[in-house]
Amino acid sequence: MQFTFVTLFFNLVEGYFQDSILKRAIDKNLISIDSLDPREFSTNKHHKVDDTAVGGGAGMVMNPQPLYDALDSLKEKDEHVHIVFMTPVAKPFTQNDAKRLAKKEHIAFVSGRYEGIDERVIEAYADEVFSIGDYILTGGELASLVVCDAVSRNIQGVLGNSDSLSVESFETPLLEAPAFSKPKNFRNIGVPSEYLKGNHSKIRSLKLELSECKTKYFRPEQLLKHRIRTSYEK
Ligand code: SAM
Repeated sequence: MQFTFVTLFFNLVEGYFQDSILKRAIDKNLISIDSLDPREFSTNKHHKVDDTAVGGGAGMVMNPQPLYDALDSLKEKDEHVHIVFMTPVAKPFTQNDAKRLAKKEHIAFVSGRYEGIDERVIEAYADEVFSIGDYILTGGELASLVVCDAVSRNIQGVLGNSDSLSVESFETPLLEAPAFSKPKNFRNIGVPSEYLKGNHSKIRSLKLELSECKTKYFRPEQLLKHRIRTSYEK
C-alpha cells in the first residue's frame, strides 16, 4: 500500500514511520510513504499557498491553485489513487473505515492548515472526507497519521500476530476485556483468579462478562447495540 501525504509539513509526518510497527512494515515493503508539498506547485512568485477568506472571516484559507495542481499531478501518475481529505466537519473515522481502506492500493491524505482548505478543492478531488473527532487540531497531519496507522495495521502482515485484530475493541460492539501482564501479583494486586486456572471456556465467559461491564461503563450505547445484535442471533 502506498500512502501519499499532501502536506506543507511532511517533516511532521515522517518521524512517525521511523520506529516500531510502521517502520517494520516499510522495511518489509508492505507499505511505503511519500509526500507532495502544495507549496512546490504554487504559481505565486513567493510560493504563497494561502490567502484571506473571501467574504471576510478570521484567518487564512488554503488557495485552490497549488492544491489543484498538486492533486492533478498525483492523479496523472496514478489515476486510481484514493484521495482522502482530513477535516473536522466530516463523518468520524471508524474501525470499519480502517478495514475497508486497507484494501486500497494507494491512498493520499490531504492535510489542511490555517482555517482550512478552499471548499472547491474538496468538492473537486475528495473521494472521502474524515474527521478524527469533535475538536480542532492545528493541521491535518496528525489526523492523517491517525487514519494511516489504523489502516496500516489492517494490512496483511503488518501486525506480527494477526489474531490480535479479531479480538480487539470495535470488531464487535463490545470493548475488549481488560488485559493483564506478568507478574501475576504486582504490589499485592492480583489478576482475576479465573485467568490463572487454564480453563479456556471459563476464561472466555469471564472475559465476555468483563467486556460487557467495561462497555456498559465506557460506551453504554455500544452495549445496547451488542444486546440488540445478540437478541437477533437467538
Ligand atoms: N476552520 C476549520 C473549522 O472550524 O472547521 C478548522 C481548520 S483546522 C485549524 C486546520 C486543518 O486541520 C483542517 O483543514 C483539517 O485538515 C485539520 N483538522 C483539524 N481538526 C481536525 C479533526 N478533528 N479531524 C480531521 N482533521 C482536522
